[in-house]
Amino acid sequence: MATNRTFTMLKPDSLEKGNTGAILEKINAAGFKIVAMKQTQMSQVDAEAFYAVHNERPFFGELVEYMTRGPIIAAILEKENAVEDFRTLIGATNPEEAAEGTIRKLYAASIGENAVHGSDSDENAAIEGAFHFSGRDIF
Ligand code: ATP
Ligand code: MG
Repeated sequence: MATNRTFTMLKPDSLEKGNTGAILEKINAAGFKIVAMKQTQMSQVDAEAFYAVHNERPFFGELVEYMTRGPIIAAILEKENAVEDFRTLIGATNPEEAAEGTIRKLYAASIGENAVHGSDSDENAAIEGAFHFSGRDIF
């Protein structure tokens, strides 16, 4: 995957609250092009693998339960400087610390239920995009 791409998930709370349209509008308005997108639900095995880096953390069980409790929207986004610019658009992990106008400030309830995922490096963007999409589904 090119380094001008990042990977995102609109997490189950965003779908439950009906916030997906508003969040996608912010993503579009910030200049990201959607090159792959789908609604899907992660299994326990999927979520444990996707967040394996956190498997020793005290919140891991809670995180897996949250991410599997309902459908998500997964997408690959393209823009110059995609990874960094998308992290800026979503804001800090904890919505109380997120900047005004960011997606998490607007739509996240707590550090645990924080509305949206954004890859933290080009390498992880490629790994995470490939986790959810095959090459023929990326445009
Ligand atoms: P994401 O990887 O989902 O984009 P992030 O990179 O901002 O989030 P990470 O440190 O990678 O934050 O944590 C992954 C996810 O684990 C967070 O988005 C959140 O849902 C959950 N999480 C992180 N820290 C905590 C915590 N202290 N308590 C509860 N849940 C947490
Ligand atoms: Mg992360």
